[in-house]
Amino acid sequence: VLPILLHQFVYKRATPTTLPSFLLLGPSGAGKTAFLTLTERRAVAAAPTHTSTSPLTIQALLPDSFTPESAHFRSPGDPAYERARRFLLVDTPGHGKLRHFATGQLVNPTHVCGIVFVVDAASVAEEAGLNEAAEYLHDVLLSLQKRYTNAKTSKGPREIPVLVAANKLDLFTALPPHLVKIALEKAVSDVRKSRAKGLKDSGVAMGGEDDGVDEEREWLGGGGEGPFEFRQMDEVGTSVVVKGGNVLGGDGADVRGWLEWIAEQL
Ligand code: GDP
Repeated sequence: VLPILLHQFVYKRATPTTLPSFLLLGPSGAGKTAFLTLTERRAVAAAPTHTSTSPLTIQALLPDSFTPESAHFRSPGDPAYERARRFLLVDTPGHGKLRHFATGQLVNPTHVCGIVFVVDAASVAEEAGLNEAAEYLHDVLLSLQKRYTNAKTSKGPREIPVLVAANKLDLFTALPPHLVKIALEKAVSDVRKSRAKGLKDSGVAMGGEDDGVDEEREWLGGGGEGPFEFRQMDEVGTSVVVKGGNVLGGDGADVRGWLEWIAEQL
């Protein structure tokens, strides 16, 4: 318990402002830290505390060539325009056991205005990598769905969009973004099916009968038994888009698509 408390303390200390923040999630090795480092070069300030097992928050600045959605009518140099370009990036450890940091932040995402879920587009071309990414993504999307359906207000909570950042497109083994989307949707459908079966089996084992409501709560997406598609998340206040990029390699970094998406949320 102590380490967890300590980490929460560190996390709170590292986020003193109310700037819009983006959570970086995704399996270990996907390129989250690399993206953070790339973005940090443009950062105005960095949080001092970081170990590989605690979340790291950096303050970043949208590059000049991107316009924050909320500042389209303002001109560069206007203080409000400059303010609108600032955001926080929160890196979370991708290791399975440490994911409670990520889900902890999903429970009360006051200033979270988006989630960047980074996947290695070469690794999702293979079954093991695809399944790992799909399990994690399934859980993230289900937390967002529950947050929406549990909300007390009739309006529903503020939307939290998800960018699936298909990274490492410089590798020739990488799947192109539209195939990453198809592969992930199918793999998330499979995760959903096996989770539902697991729930059912445990319900039977405990002799429970009337657990239909819970099963429904744990079922991702509104499309019934049919295949899961990202666009089903629109109904629960979460748009999911897949955009390719590469943080390293090739002819240098290309993360334009991701920064454009971030600009749209600011
Ligand atoms: P994290 O665990 O998600 O934080 O992943 P890292 O940022 O530590 O990256 C994992 C590995 O992938 C490192 O060896 C990086 O150098 C490498 N990597 C990250 N981004 C790219 C990329 O766009 N292309 C290539 N070829 N390698 C990358």
